[in-house]
Amino acid sequence: MKKNQVKNVIWKTVLQQKWLSIGIVLAVIGAVVTALIPPLVLAKIVDTITAGKNVVFWSILLYFVMLALTGIMESAREGLLTVFGQKITHALRSSLMEKFGRLTSDNLTGLEPGTLVSRFVGDVDTVENLFTSGIISMFADACKIISILVVIWFENKGLMVVLLVILPFLFWFTRHVQKNMLAAQIENRKAVGRASGHVPETLHNIRTIHNLARETYMEKRYDTYIGESYAAMERTNFYDAVYSPVILILNAVVVAAVMLLSASGNRTVLTFFGMSAGTAVAVTNYISQIFTPVESLGMEIQTIQSAVAGIHRINEFFGLEEKKDGLQEVKELSVADKGVSESAKDAAAVNVVGKSGEDEVPFVEFQNVTFGYDEHVVLEHLNFKVLDTDQVTLLGRTGAGKSTILKLLLGLYEPDQGKVLIHGIPATAVKAGDRRTLFGYVEQTFHMVPGTVRDQITLFDGRISDCQVKAVAELTGLKEAIESLENDYDTYCTPEIFSQGQWQLLSIARAAVSEPKMLLLDEITANLDAETEKSVLAALKRVAKDRTVISISHRTSAELGRTIQI
Ligand code: ATP
Ligand code: MG
Repeated sequence: MKKNQVKNVIWKTVLQQKWLSIGIVLAVIGAVVTALIPPLVLAKIVDTITAGKNVVFWSILLYFVMLALTGIMESAREGLLTVFGQKITHALRSSLMEKFGRLTSDNLTGLEPGTLVSRFVGDVDTVENLFTSGIISMFADACKIISILVVIWFENKGLMVVLLVILPFLFWFTRHVQKNMLAAQIENRKAVGRASGHVPETLHNIRTIHNLARETYMEKRYDTYIGESYAAMERTNFYDAVYSPVILILNAVVVAAVMLLSASGNRTVLTFFGMSAGTAVAVTNYISQIFTPVESLGMEIQTIQSAVAGIHRINEFFGLEEKKDGLQEVKELSVADKGVSESAKDAAAVNVVGKSGEDEVPFVEFQNVTFGYDEHVVLEHLNFKVLDTDQVTLLGRTGAGKSTILKLLLGLYEPDQGKVLIHGIPATAVKAGDRRTLFGYVEQTFHMVPGTVRDQITLFDGRISDCQVKAVAELTGLKEAIESLENDYDTYCTPEIFSQGQWQLLSIARAAVSEPKMLLLDEITANLDAETEKSVLAALKRVAKDRTVISISHRTSAELGRTIQI
């Protein structure tokens, strides 16, 4: 994977949105230039008035036109930047989703849902902010400050010196306030998060709380959280309240000092501060203009800092290992693995040997497999074979690694040692498109997808026809239950439309609809009553006919065919 994927996505968007990018550049430059002109025109007008001459109508018109143009340029800049930021967000989220689909199960196991969500939401937002209120605004503000300083240098050198002294202090003060406000806001957000998490937690455990008489304890905890939130809010309000008056006073002090000095009558002072009435008006205007971008600079630095961290985290996500492209490897490995299969026949620790001859390439073969999630070793030196149309049950205590075996043979994980082979080919090299016709996997718990009853069965696979859906519903004995629903197969699914047993049957229908060569059944009758279990097993028998089946059970009553002890 390329190292700086975020940069690539941004660059691609810039090239794709050529006119938008050009528009932004023009609007940024336009806004800086047009903002400089009105005070200069105003200075001329005031000077003309103070000289007792008549003001030309065109100069007044020019003043207003330039003011309007500045406004238009600034709103064009903001508008175009927002659109551009959204394009970047769209492109980034799409690439993240594509990447997400290509990640290995190993990587997904290690990712926390919250962390993953923050990559998609928070971190992408920081990159959007980088454009809407980060580097481009910073560039515009820097240009604005420099251009105003240059104009002031020509108009009043003394003021330029004063500003050079004042501006660093202003910047330091702004940063100080912003940092403290941000810290308080983060604290507040955390406290609000804790307080709002406390409500559902209380609701969830309400019976236990009543049982153990923990009401006061829960109330006190809630009080602490909202107390922390109030304290943080107060700090934010304090800084907010102090900042604006300080800036206004500073602005007034600078203007007053410069005016006093320019009216001092002292020759030396006047060489630096002397100016006409018109220039006085213009510089006053410039001074108030220069304060705003200095304030913004602080926030922009903040935005850029968080965007850099966000980009780093997104790039880390883009750098995660991807699933292999099955097709390529099947060809290479099917040749190479022949030798391995031969040697495996000699492996001493084969737990179960298939019913037919040694020459047959088994459907599934675990060769000395050791596997663990991170440090936690679950399977050690496991050996077994399952031949075509074999029906076996994996038996083992809870947590022994039975479900893990199915995940390994589905190619979701790579063994740490040994080999998991499907018809002599490593399970991870099976082409993704072939998996559904090879395996029908009935999971330990049913995972409903957002969609209709039909979608639960097809999983949005366009290759599955309506006829197949209906046939499998009949086979699993779900036909009547589905047809009694409001919109039969088109009914939108919510957890309560089926019973636990019916969901289990739907799960079998989902696995069987593509007529897979092998069925993988994970504890499918574990939570059912005897009656429902019977109907699920009957459905299963019909589906399992002439198929290879690996089922899992920790109860010997539900076993199917021969057994393999894990
Ligand atoms: P049960 O009969 O209860 O379903 P099982 O034999 O199917 O148990 P597995 O689900 O394979 O057991 O889990 C075996 C061990 O691996 C357990 O200790 C479990 O905590 C751990 N484990 C399972 N899945 C993961 C995962 N995604 N990440 C980390 N550890 C896992
Ligand atoms: Mg399990």
